[in-house]
Amino acid sequence: MSKDWKTRTTLVHEGSRRSQYGEMAEAIFLTQGFVYPTAEAAEARFVKTEGDEFIYARYGNPTTRMFEERIAALEGTEDAFATASGMAAVNGALVSMLRAGDHVVSARALFGSCLYILEEILGRYGVEVTFVDGADLDQWRAAMRPGVTKAVFFESMSNPTLELVDIAAVSEIAHAAGALVVVDNVFSTPIFSRAVDLGADVVVYSTTKHIDGQGRALGGVICGTQEFIRKVVEPYMKHTGGSMSPFTAWIMLNGMATLDLRCRAMAESALTVATALAADDRLSKVIFPGLASHPQHDLAMAQMGVGGTMVAFEVKGGKEAAFRAINALEIIKISNNLGDAKSIATHPATTTHQRLPEAQKASLGITPGLIRLSVGLEDAGDLIADLKRGLDRV
Ligand SMILES: *Cc1c(COP(=O)(O)O)cnc(C)c1O
Repeated sequence: MSKDWKTRTTLVHEGSRRSQYGEMAEAIFLTQGFVYPTAEAAEARFVKTEGDEFIYARYGNPTTRMFEERIAALEGTEDAFATASGMAAVNGALVSMLRAGDHVVSARALFGSCLYILEEILGRYGVEVTFVDGADLDQWRAAMRPGVTKAVFFESMSNPTLELVDIAAVSEIAHAAGALVVVDNVFSTPIFSRAVDLGADVVVYSTTKHIDGQGRALGGVICGTQEFIRKVVEPYMKHTGGSMSPFTAWIMLNGMATLDLRCRAMAESALTVATALAADDRLSKVIFPGLASHPQHDLAMAQMGVGGTMVAFEVKGGKEAAFRAINALEIIKISNNLGDAKSIATHPATTTHQRLPEAQKASLGITPGLIRLSVGLEDAGDLIADLKRGLDRV
């Protein structure tokens, strides 16, 4: 089979394996383990598994393998390891490669649980972390300790204030110091940002977001070289138990078939919604990388080609006004997922980022009036009407 496939073909077909029944849809191999024809075969498999051989679902499973091959082909990495959640992927990518005495440089603006791993967990095991302003290349440069800094970590677009990190520039700085670049690419989506082409070594996703895209299951994945995935990540993941279940892998495989279409439709609506919100004087701020008003608009266009599927905006009147606005929404749901078919409004200061001290919230731009909107697959005009209904209450 020719493998110079374009993205949409890869998303539908890559990695598919068929059993002797020739089933059309990918099969869910809901099995914890595998039967060996002989004791000798069992012994041989524990020495080395090849191709279609499996031992135990925590190590790998045919359905999970199909998903790993499909996403690795999409990312342009040699291999991938599917995990039970996005956080298992972030933790697995970092902890599997780090040792006591290592140093990590990380962007400051992170998803709450990512921040917990970097701020609270790594230090317990003797890994030192320096936080920098992700958009300030001088801070990245100054924080590097050649030979000691083993990894840099950042979200290519931050949550919830949609600040971009220049993947190519930070990768160059990190590589000059001998550090691996680990990118959490969730907000940029695998469709819009090709992190590995830009220099990243390891890309992690919460597949709970755009890849499922329908709010059904938690999942994650770590993408990288075969050497990194099979020699560093797999031993850690398979012995600590954070592998993806075959049922989840099947959901993610189906999600991937429509991923390109969904992300492009959401991004188009996000631009329409952001443009409408930018003209509304009940808002003090609209943050969307696809608008020329975004301070990193040029970088967003170069790195993603679009503004993405998330919009953040700040209502005048603080928390009370923000609560009144989202309580009046009829189509857009109040929740904390993103990348879903259903549009979702989140009030970060009181939910996803509640744990942060007030000063840290302020420095990250998480103000009391800030609302994060994940634009879904509904009609953009209906979404704008819903948002106007909310803003009429502020
Ligand atoms: C949601 C999210 C995660 C965590 O993923 P889970 O699947 O919820 O474990 C990590 N990073 C980012 C940027 C996210 O949005």
